[in-house]
Amino acid sequence: MSNNERTFIAIKPDGVQRGLISNILSRFENKGYKLVGIKLVTPTENLLKQHYAEHVDKPFFPKMLSYMMSGPVLATVWEGKDAVKQGRSILGATNPLNSAPGTIRGDFALDMGRNVVHGSDSVESANREINLWFKKEELVDYKISQLSWIYE
Ligand code: UDP
Repeated sequence: MSNNERTFIAIKPDGVQRGLISNILSRFENKGYKLVGIKLVTPTENLLKQHYAEHVDKPFFPKMLSYMMSGPVLATVWEGKDAVKQGRSILGATNPLNSAPGTIRGDFALDMGRNVVHGSDSVESANREINLWFKKEELVDYKISQLSWIYE
């Protein structure tokens, strides 16, 4: 299993407005993931239509679009072993009412349309989303000094 898998994690406008950034980032840091990209952006409709291409025709899409455009989003990329699947489990279920306590959505959310975070659901969508939100030069290549204390 690769130690270099990458996932795209975004803190949605509600998470930013509610002051949850440091709590959410620290969960990924504490687990051992390496932060390789981070920026605060207010997404355009065009970006969101590409990001959520599979949902554009769903009835909830217009409301979701205005939620996602309502303020800045903290876009991040994390790297490490099994990052995509582990990232999803750190986030919790899409519906916060089905998210276990201890997950981000389980700890901080109640409604699906205010579920605080986004995380890629496969390696393919992670690559697609990373390329959509970040330019190549915005992803930083470095070695974490604690590497041998995180990986055996
Ligand atoms: N969403 C919503 N109502 C729904 C389904 C989804 O508001 O009935 C929103 C919700 O914020 C969710 C996002 O649309 O996070 C994308 O849905 P998806 O099924 O891809 O869930 P995710 O991958 O974010 O867990």
